[in-house]
Amino acid sequence: MAGGRLKAPRGTFDVLPEDGRRRLALFNLCQALVAHSAGFEYVETPAFEDTELFARSVGGATDIVQKEMFTFEDKAGRSLTLRPEETASVCRAYVEHGMHKRPQPVRLWYWGSFFRHEAPQAGRYRQFTQVGAETIGSDDPAVDAEVIVLLAELLEQARCRAVRLRLSSLGSAATRREYRTELAAYLHSHASELAPAVRERIDANPLRAFDSQDEGTRGVMAEAPKLLDRLEDEDADHFAAVRALLDEVGLGYEVDPMLVRGLDYYTRTVFEFESAVLGAQAGLGGGGRYDHLVELLGGDATPAVGWAAGIERILLAADPDTTGHWGDAAPPRVYVAAAAESAAGRGFALVQELRREGVVAQLEQGGRSLKGQLRHADRLGARFAVILDGDAGMELKDMRTGEQRRVGSAAEIVNAADPEVSGP
Ligand code: AMP
Repeated sequence: MAGGRLKAPRGTFDVLPEDGRRRLALFNLCQALVAHSAGFEYVETPAFEDTELFARSVGGATDIVQKEMFTFEDKAGRSLTLRPEETASVCRAYVEHGMHKRPQPVRLWYWGSFFRHEAPQAGRYRQFTQVGAETIGSDDPAVDAEVIVLLAELLEQARCRAVRLRLSSLGSAATRREYRTELAAYLHSHASELAPAVRERIDANPLRAFDSQDEGTRGVMAEAPKLLDRLEDEDADHFAAVRALLDEVGLGYEVDPMLVRGLDYYTRTVFEFESAVLGAQAGLGGGGRYDHLVELLGGDATPAVGWAAGIERILLAADPDTTGHWGDAAPPRVYVAAAAESAAGRGFALVQELRREGVVAQLEQGGRSLKGQLRHADRLGARFAVILDGDAGMELKDMRTGEQRRVGSAAEIVNAADPEVSGP
């Protein structure tokens, strides 16, 4: 039965080869920078977790938990959720596997798919990809500064355009509790000027009012008391130390007291990188300190800091002139063509042999005539073509000069294809 055509689900996308190349190049950049150069270790966690993990860590009153989670029951009736972010999972794994016994801090990075049930638009998807880095087990401000500089470097090397960094501090959990009460009282006194959605959540999550795009609300928030002015001395010193280190390396930033970030678990430093070329969904990546999360998930009190950045947003913000050719597929060095059908098996074996010897080789698979095969070899940018005849003979054609000669063995082809012998 012929069926109708199916499409990828709403808010998801396929990665086609051109994009696939850019994504792999970006992955390689992350590996070079985050893993190799800065020494973070790669980890993976499951794509779904107990719903409880996110409810407890991200926060019951946040948009993510209230509206955006893909939650389902397994056959035993357990509530599971496709991960909307990774920090909670990494901390769960840290506790579950006793990573506090390793030398501290533990420095981890990840890359993977995340899921949020949001209204899709440019740069906002229901399945998207994040790269992230977390340092668990140190409250040193140098660690905050290190991860911030690392993300700045990644965005720079990925050639993201018009990037700005916003930075703030949320202080300790106690300061934040007191401040929430103060802010809620202030919001109640201006309730009539606030957007209805903000008004409804004054008591549940007053800090989110800072994220509102509503004009009336923004006016109220500009005049609101700021958490940054309420920091305890220790937290203010910590923030000053982070800033001094960023100044030390000349990384520009704006201190923005309106920056609160959408998740409950943050303490002290928070930051966000944005690109002006992204439009409404400007966030490239962000993060902060989460000194109580490990404890909240059943571990010892363990300070930690990290970030996550959106791969699709980075690629949207990256300069297409300089990143369009990232990781271009390498042209084959040798294209193996067959002048007769009976040579197919020989060609198959020859390609495997060439590859084993380190020669990038491809085989005709399109059922073309010999002329069509050579045209295809040319289109792929092959430097040589091997033409197999119906008997045991082989000819090697230099695609650049057009010269063609008989060759007797694979070794002879390997030798001829060596750039030291035949040039690039
Ligand atoms: P967050 O922790 O929510 O700030 O997410 C970190 C980064 O992930 C954001 O700055 C975006 O680059 C990316 N991101 C978050 N949600 C989405 C989404 N729905 N679609 C695409 N990218 C996203």
